[in-house]
Amino acid sequence: MSDRIIYLDHAATTPLDQQVLAAMLPYLSEQPGNPSSIHQLGRAALHAVDDAREAVALVLGCARKEIIFTGGGSESDNLAIKGAALAQRQRGKGSHIITSAIEHHAVLHAAEYLEQFGFEVTQLPVDAAGLVRPDDLRAALRPDTTLVSVMYANNEVGTVQPIAELGSICHERGVLLHTDAVQAAGMLPLDVDALNVDLMTLTAHKFYGPKGVGLLYVRHGVSLMPQINGGGQERRRRAGTENVPGIVGLAAALTMAEERRPSYVARLRGLRDRLIDGVLGRVPQSWLNGDRERRLSNNANLGFACAESESVLLLLDQEGICASSGSACSSGSLEPSHVLTAMGLSVEHATSSVRFSLGLGSSAQDIDDVVAALPALISRLREVAPCV
Ligand SMILES: *Cc1c(COP(=O)(O)O)cnc(C)c1O
Repeated sequence: MSDRIIYLDHAATTPLDQQVLAAMLPYLSEQPGNPSSIHQLGRAALHAVDDAREAVALVLGCARKEIIFTGGGSESDNLAIKGAALAQRQRGKGSHIITSAIEHHAVLHAAEYLEQFGFEVTQLPVDAAGLVRPDDLRAALRPDTTLVSVMYANNEVGTVQPIAELGSICHERGVLLHTDAVQAAGMLPLDVDALNVDLMTLTAHKFYGPKGVGLLYVRHGVSLMPQINGGGQERRRRAGTENVPGIVGLAAALTMAEERRPSYVARLRGLRDRLIDGVLGRVPQSWLNGDRERRLSNNANLGFACAESESVLLLLDQEGICASSGSACSSGSLEPSHVLTAMGLSVEHATSSVRFSLGLGSSAQDIDDVVAALPALISRLREVAPCV
């Protein structure tokens, strides 16, 4: 085991920023109030949540009441899909939903869940770079379509979708658009009007905030069926005592992410390209998955012919390098990533791909060390298990 860790898995989660932690700490101990309580500690907690909501609304360019704080990205996706689809149907608006083939499982499985209650789901295909074609959305819209959900940026290959354009297509037909913007926060503009979206998901732990807290933006006038019933918190749309420290942390982290966005993006793009060019230049039979230009500035998803991603990840881990793959090991065999197969990759290529995702702590030295380690590591694997 190496003693130095090179963390290139920021798309999975990011470390909590020290300043964010400092903002949260009072609400973990000295300020224990419940925002629903009438006394001064309760009022202090309510104030903190109000201030956080205001800070978030500023970044999203929306009203405070359009923000619902949740328990994270998966919950926000579920609330958006189930909550909006059920409310729409209740108002007689039909029961057809459209998603894309490369969505996060929180969207795909929430939509699939609705099928047992009579909803119909269409999955839009993507092109070889992982992009949704606006014409495919136009063709998929039906008179009974009520909701479309397409992610802003993909978590595996980093492809950035033309959300504003998809939004205008939806709105011409009176259909709602939800976007999972989890990977976009801190990297791309989040203004909900410019993006043309009605619902948008964010989660704090992908932008140096705490885990287990997120938000759903819900455009004024869009109704939702709550998915957690109970007290009247979050304007009766999400019951449960507010995660006060988490919400304070989310707002601090989002504000900081937005402030540093231009320099962050420029710096990561340079490092990302150094990684991509370095690997493609030094590892034979390697390739880049996703679009070279229309991708997140921190994402490099690289394929290595005849080298199973799980084995690459284990060897990288031995060198202290943390990366990921979209493949999952189930019952001893590699399940290819649904994102890569939707982009047309063969099972072999999809199970030979590794995602490196950069972040605040990434340095040029980290990148150079990965580029230096990979050629020998890949050829070792190819010797042990030659390609058939
Ligand atoms: C991480 C992630 C989620 C899930 O967020 P959690 O807060 O972990 O539930 C949803 N969508 C995308 C695109 C993600 O990357």
